[in-house]
Amino acid sequence: MAASMAAQVGKSLRGAAARYVLLDKSKSVRINPQRWLNLQEYQSKKLMQSSGVAVQRFFVADTATDALEAAKRLKAKEIVLKAQILAGGRGKGVFTSGLKGGVHLTKDPAAVGQLAKQMLGFNLTTKQTPKEGVKVNTVMVAEALDISRETYFAILMDRACNGPVMVGSPQGGVDIEEVAASSPEKIFKEVIDIFQGVTDEQALCMAANLGFRGSLERQAADQIKKLYDLFLKVDATQVEVNPLGETPEGQVVCFDAKINFDDNAEFRQKEIFAMDNTSEGDPIETEAAKYDLKYIGLDGNIACFVNGAGLAMATCDIIDLHGGKPANFLDLGGGVQESQVYQAFKLLTADPKVEAILVNIFGGIVNCAIIANGITKACRELGLKVPLVVRLEGTNVQEAQRILNESGLPITAASDLDDAARKAVASITRK
Ligand code: ADP
Ligand code: MG
Repeated sequence: MAASMAAQVGKSLRGAAARYVLLDKSKSVRINPQRWLNLQEYQSKKLMQSSGVAVQRFFVADTATDALEAAKRLKAKEIVLKAQILAGGRGKGVFTSGLKGGVHLTKDPAAVGQLAKQMLGFNLTTKQTPKEGVKVNTVMVAEALDISRETYFAILMDRACNGPVMVGSPQGGVDIEEVAASSPEKIFKEVIDIFQGVTDEQALCMAANLGFRGSLERQAADQIKKLYDLFLKVDATQVEVNPLGETPEGQVVCFDAKINFDDNAEFRQKEIFAMDNTSEGDPIETEAAKYDLKYIGLDGNIACFVNGAGLAMATCDIIDLHGGKPANFLDLGGGVQESQVYQAFKLLTADPKVEAILVNIFGGIVNCAIIANGITKACRELGLKVPLVVRLEGTNVQEAQRILNESGLPITAASDLDDAARKAVASITRK
């Protein structure tokens, strides 16, 4: 359990698919269809600073000239230049400019300008990004410190424990996923009582498990408590520090930072949500979020229009079973309006990969007639050019069938999910 969770934590859950998170791979697929706000490392570090967490001095730059200036201003013995993208694994990443490594250490401020030139405006590909990588618009220029040991530490909301959990490993750094897979005994987990918070005893125990000794143990425990204060203060779902390192001079420092936030807390975390940088996300996904729709892009050619994450996964599986491949899925959620159905169709058909659309809606809270009206309106106004297979079930389904039948549109009705998937796959094969 700890291992699979820590592996998840190690992956930092940055990126699109991470918004449908598998919380525990050992159990059946559990999905959390929530859109979590992502911040860049430098933004997370600013929040950490304000909670008294130890991070090094840094500046942020979006041109090579500014990066060079920042490096000079730092007056540090050594400088670290870090590409800012919402994905981890940057240390071992590669840029489209040919430069290797999204994190570079140098003693020469002049080199910072040269390196920044090969980062800014180029895509960086890491283990956690799509193949084509993510464009780097910002770099962080920070004071580098010698690191004598790298540990891993995170606090996250864990459904299995109904509350926050601390996860740590004395072997942190860039290969935490491997540690979690090959040496699960090196991953330590501690459940936090939400009413009590992290006790001194728990913080010291985690610090010791992370391998901090002597005065470093107290320092690490203090950092752990401050990180928990931050976790609560900002309504985080996850605070991850990898590495939480120690220096030869005897300091405990957070060298990397990753915070996820609970979207339900947006109303009381307005300043943080105002920092949201959606430019890095999938443009269709960002557009979908505007209408409160959840969109996940996949590689196939059948668009899936569903309600509920469970039904989405089932739909994808059954398409697969019948030899097809889903192009995406768009989750309508409950309480849906006709205008959202229209927007949803617009988004689905905007994807050139889509060769057929499968609608699979189970009307509980959702009224099928609203869906049917939205579908017919969208088909007429958007001039639908691909086959459309519809399976509706539940609330007001008879009325919905009547609307679809009387529309005169070329819509294929399906009796159940199996039938729908078969017909959607066949509609493409027939072409
Ligand atoms: P990522 O997790 O995306 O690879 P990190 O910020 O963890 O990026 O950086 C990768 C590695 O670079 C760290 O594990 C650490 O060894 C080194 N590093 C990062 N920041 C510093 C720093 N300020 N001083 C010295 N080394 C650093
Ligand atoms: Mg890291």
